[in-house]
Amino acid sequence: MAKPLALVVTCGCGGRGRVQPGETWSCPACGRAFETTEVPGAEYAAIAREVNQAKLRALVGFAVIAAVFVPLGFVLGAELWITGAVVLAVFYFAYGPKLKRDVRRIVADLPSWTVRERGRGSTDG
Ligand SMILES: [Zn+2]
Repeated sequence: MAKPLALVVTCGCGGRGRVQPGETWSCPACGRAFETTEVPGAEYAAIAREVNQAKLRALVGFAVIAAVFVPLGFVLGAELWITGAVVLAVFYFAYGPKLKRDVRRIVADLPSWTVRERGRGSTDG
């Protein structure tokens, strides 16, 4: 199950957490709240799109293999479905690790953003 991309916020006290862009993150250790609304949306969206495209390529591969072997099985016999299943398994084991590597590389390249602590300078409590 793929998790949606999340920002990693590091608090001044050393507490860390993950949050979706635009949401407020509260440090579990000290309770300070951080706004992530300043994270550039376009840049973030581009990264999310890259991850989605890597996943989409895998899906297209599966779809193409299925689209070839399912009709062939009806025409030429059910043995073709077994061949198709083998091809799918080979594709899965060949492409799965590559997909994971791609996603890991994209996520490793993530730029870091500085988020501001919420309510700094305000007097209400
Ligand atoms: Zn903290």
